[in-house]
Amino acid sequence: MTKTFVTHLECSMTGKHYEKGKIHELSEVGRPLLVRYDLAEMAKHISKDSIKNSADPGFWRYAGMLPVTKPENRISLGEVITPLIPLRKSAASLGGLPDKIIVKDEGRLPTGSFKARGLCLAVSMAKEFGQPHLAMPTNGNAGAALAAYASRAGQKTTIFCPSDTPDINIREIKQQGGDTYLVNGLINDCGKIVLEGKESVGWFDISTLKEPYRIEGKKTMGLELAEQLNWTLPDVIFYPTGGGTGLIGMWKAFAELLEMGWIGSKMPKMVAVQAEGCAPIYKAWKAGDEHAPLWENAHTMAAGIRVPIAVGDFLIIRAVRESGGFCMTVTDEDIITTRDDIAKLDGLLLCPEGAATAVAYKQALAQGLISQDDTAILYNCATGLKYPMDAVDGIIDKNQPVDYSQF
Ligand SMILES: *Cc1c(COP(=O)(O)O)cnc(C)c1O
Repeated sequence: MTKTFVTHLECSMTGKHYEKGKIHELSEVGRPLLVRYDLAEMAKHISKDSIKNSADPGFWRYAGMLPVTKPENRISLGEVITPLIPLRKSAASLGGLPDKIIVKDEGRLPTGSFKARGLCLAVSMAKEFGQPHLAMPTNGNAGAALAAYASRAGQKTTIFCPSDTPDINIREIKQQGGDTYLVNGLINDCGKIVLEGKESVGWFDISTLKEPYRIEGKKTMGLELAEQLNWTLPDVIFYPTGGGTGLIGMWKAFAELLEMGWIGSKMPKMVAVQAEGCAPIYKAWKAGDEHAPLWENAHTMAAGIRVPIAVGDFLIIRAVRESGGFCMTVTDEDIITTRDDIAKLDGLLLCPEGAATAVAYKQALAQGLISQDDTAILYNCATGLKYPMDAVDGIIDKNQPVDYSQF
C-alpha cells in the first residue's frame, strides 16, 4: 500500500463531503464528485525533482498526486509524455507567429487519443475497488480506451455507440475486447441505456464525469503541460469541449499546483471550443448561464465534441469564466480546410477536434480576444489517422510506359 494524499471526495455543486476508499458515482444531487487531497502534505513528500527523476516515462510519474493506492493497480499500456509541436508554417495562415502556436499532440497516447488518460485512471480505480464489469456510452475514442485498459486489467466491458460512429472506432473497441453495440441515437441515448441497465446487469457506469476518477486522469494533462513548460503555464489554452473532462481536469490541476506553491498565480485563459452544430456550452456561457440544456439535433463531423448535454456543464463554464477565457464555435467546413492546411504545411495531421482549436485560434486573434504574442496551446486530442481522409486519384499502370512529365 502506498500512501495517497486523498482526504475525501466533494460534491462539485454543494461541497458536501464523501468518504474516500468507497465506490462512488455522482453525488446525491446528481453532480460530479471531485477528489480532494491534503496538498500541503503532498508538497512535503513530492518534489519537482522527484517527478523529474521518476523512472516512469508517462503520466504515472504523477502517481503521488493521484488516488491509486496500490502500485499493482496502476494499469499501463506504455503512456508517453505527449510532445509540444509548434506550428511553424501554418502559423501565418492562422494569422499568428511561428512558435507561438503550439500543438500538444495527444494522439501519441495508447489507443490514439487523450481518452487514455481518463480511462487509464478510472479503470485502475475500478480494479482497486474490484469492479468486474464496466459499461459506457461513447462517440468512439472513450470506448476504445476503456476496452483496451479494461482488457489489460481483466475487466469485462459493454460499450454503446451511436450507429453513425466512425467505423474504425467501433471496430477498434471490439478488437480490444469490448462487447460493442450500435444504437440508433446520440451519445445521450446510449447513456440512458447504461443508466437503466445498471441495476439488472450490475455493471459500473464509467460515463464521462459519472464517476470521480476520469477527471483525475485528465488532470495529468495539466500537470504534464506545466512540467513541460518548466512549471509555468501558457497564456491561453484552446480545448475542444464535449463533456469537458479535460478542461475541468486541467483547471483542477492548475489550482492544485498553485496551492502547492509549484506555479505562480498567472493562469491561462481557458477557451472551450465547440462546433456550430452542437454548442450547448457556448450558448449557456454567452447567455450568462451556468447550466446548458440539451442541444437539439446535434450535428458535426467532429464526433468527439458532439455531446448535446454535459453533466459537468457548470464546471466547464466556471473554469472558462474564472480564467478570463471564453467559448467559441467553429464550422465543420473550417475544421476540414484547416486540418488539410496544417497537414500539408506543417506535416502534422490533426483530428477534426484538434483542427477545431486552430480555427478558434484564428477567430480569437481576428476578434482581438488574444494577441499574437500570447503563447497558445492547441489540444490535438486524437490521432488524425482515425478519421476520413481524401481519396488518392493518381493511378499508374505498370504495363504501360510511365509518363514522367506528370510528376
Ligand atoms: C472526447 C473527445 C473530445 C472532448 O473531450 P472532453 O474532455 O470530453 O470534452 C474531443 N476530441 C476528441 C477526439 C475526443 O475523443
